Amino acid sequence: MKRKNSYPIKKSERDWKAQLSEEEYRILREKGTELPFTGKYNDHYQKGTYFCKGCGEALYRSESKFDSKCGWPSYDCAIKGSLEEIPDNSLGIIRTEIVCSKCGGHQGHVFNDGPTSTGLRYCVNSASISFKKSRIKS
Ligand SMILES: [Zn+2]
Repeated sequence: MKRKNSYPIKKSERDWKAQLSEEEYRILREKGTELPFTGKYNDHYQKGTYFCKGCGEALYRSESKFDSKCGWPSYDCAIKGSLEEIPDNSLGIIRTEIVCSKCGGHQGHVFNDGPTSTGLRYCVNSASISFKKSRIKS
């Protein structure tokens, strides 16, 4: 799929490769997926904020995280305006890809089968995010 080229944070592929690990680059920049139940934030429930691994933008709050049992970190909402949703038909099924709205880094997909009141399940790669035990203001 063609990535649009209008994100505020632009870097060359070389710079991304220098900044990210091989696995992070494969997921964030090439829309890869980590194996389920392997990511460091799958089973992680400390209070704080999750940030984009590519650019540091705040994306999810710990209050939104829930145990989806699907093997990836899952949230029932994202911080407003932090993600862009892109239709994705790459597996022959219609899904909605989520990318960081600042750098375009691939996060995962959002599904409308969430168990909480939002009805949404943001299914995210651990490699796409970092965590800090601090709260950000909304
Ligand atoms: Zn980002």
